[in-house]
Amino acid sequence: MIKTTKTKALSLSMIVSLALTGMANANVTNKDILNDQMTTEDVVTYGLGLKGQRYSPLKKINTETVKEMRPVWSFSLGGEKQRGQESQPMIKDGVMYITGSYSRVFAIDARTGDELWQYDARLPDGIMPCCDVINRGVALYGDLVIFGTLDAKLVALHKDTGKVVWKKKVEDYKAGYSITAAPIVVKGKVITGVAGGEFGIVGKVRAYDAKNGNLVWERPTVEGHMGYIWKNGKKMENGISGGKAGQTWPGDLWKSGGAAPWNGGTYDADVDLLFFGTGNPAPWNSHLRPGDNYFSSSRLAIDPDTGKIVWHFQTTPHDGWDYDGVNELISFDYKQNGKTVKAAGTADRNGFFYVLNRENGDFIRGFPIVDKISWASGLDKNGRPIYIDSNRPGNPADSKKGKKGTTVTSAPAFLGAKNWMPMAYSKDTELFYVPTNEWEMDIWNEPTAYKKGSAYLGAGFTIKAINEAYIGVLRAMDPKTGKEVWRYKNYSPLWSGVLATAGNLVFIGNPEGYLLGLNAKTGDVEYKFNTGSGIVGSPITWEMDGEQYISVLSGWGGAVPLWGGDVAKRIKHLNQGGSVWTFKLPK
Ligand code: CA
Ligand code: CA
Repeated sequence: MIKTTKTKALSLSMIVSLALTGMANANVTNKDILNDQMTTEDVVTYGLGLKGQRYSPLKKINTETVKEMRPVWSFSLGGEKQRGQESQPMIKDGVMYITGSYSRVFAIDARTGDELWQYDARLPDGIMPCCDVINRGVALYGDLVIFGTLDAKLVALHKDTGKVVWKKKVEDYKAGYSITAAPIVVKGKVITGVAGGEFGIVGKVRAYDAKNGNLVWERPTVEGHMGYIWKNGKKMENGISGGKAGQTWPGDLWKSGGAAPWNGGTYDADVDLLFFGTGNPAPWNSHLRPGDNYFSSSRLAIDPDTGKIVWHFQTTPHDGWDYDGVNELISFDYKQNGKTVKAAGTADRNGFFYVLNRENGDFIRGFPIVDKISWASGLDKNGRPIYIDSNRPGNPADSKKGKKGTTVTSAPAFLGAKNWMPMAYSKDTELFYVPTNEWEMDIWNEPTAYKKGSAYLGAGFTIKAINEAYIGVLRAMDPKTGKEVWRYKNYSPLWSGVLATAGNLVFIGNPEGYLLGLNAKTGDVEYKFNTGSGIVGSPITWEMDGEQYISVLSGWGGAVPLWGGDVAKRIKHLNQGGSVWTFKLPK
């Protein structure tokens, strides 16, 4: 029944545990994926549910009991180079699936921490990840474990052996494309975006048949590019051009326009829409591309069957600060005047939090999630930023030598009020828990031209802390009022995902190495444990043999040490690592 491969034989403990649970052949179904949030014995989606709320109804670990929580095992990812570990673990039938730096996948016995198999994508020389060799996790479907690689491929592995079942090239890594986000599976299709906005790639979202990797549709995210749908192996225009070329871009710049949907997507079955965010328009130097530059720095609602853009909401039109709009859009409902509002919340790099109507993309309200925003004085009634023109980095063409434009100090820094690290929404407190950072940057523009496979910025920058005592701030935000209910300040920038539970707890990791458990209502620290290296992964919780478990990856890295300027110097003492830690209460 179970084949032994050359790479690694199944361990005895796995065969025994599979036999004990009698679920060796339990495949992940569309129903499992849709119900994931409320089924506590497994975690089969990125975000603990396709909505991405990162909320669990489990409450055995709660504000009363969490003090007793302790690690039960730790697993080392090995490898000679320790780099950022941004993965979210998945759990199915007592097996944990994680990704590691350099496009690796591990299957681990969730009871013991024993390795079951390991897959290494063996990357070519010349990959071009902008921001560390990280990966954020796998998707599960059927008997497959599916992930994206730094050389822009999708790879599907068999869950029991780690053997490749199918592999597809999504895009050309030599042009600057890569994949770091966890794909999601919706209605049997694997949906992925691509990274590469710093190299002038063309952003796109693609859907593949999860069973065999056949392409189903493609939706470019730069206005002017045609979308396609494949039927019976035939490529057809899906009839939706996504706008005409040259409307919001000058000349040919749309052909290298960036807008990379690099952080993956969410899905809400209620309105049957995918939600993907898009990154900066390329190049960063905004004076080269007058116009709003659709669909860069936006949130897009996409039809999961065809790839059609149903609505778009642009957070930073004509972005000049690298305020990528990729952050997750989380669906949630709330009551107002007795009526249910089908809303969605999203926290942007540009410093604002947006509440949108998720049926049509209408702006409901917006509010700041950092103390200092210098590039805009606020949002208008449609949610468009009100620019402070003097805070846009100057045009090099206006300078004496035409080499370097005026330097401005902009807040937030381009690494964002909030970057990729996913926030959580609690159904109990009706609050969003948003990991933010308070920093600013000196930024200036320079001339640049597109060249395949080269950095395409036309800008220089240095990031600086605003406060001596802290940069990271975990904020509890009320989406109905925009009020901050509490804040937790952290010396280093926060770069970890958040988890909220019915135990009135919010979990987050910090670069100092701690897994922190905070009181969801007050922000008081109820638990802390040092994992030995900085945490930049996303914690999960699940139930096994009647006990509640919590797991998180530890391993400092990601964009901050590489791009952080003065901030990177300030935290250069933090140690690297690469491990998974799993916790529970004593019996
Ligand atoms: Ca589940
Ligand atoms: Ca960017």
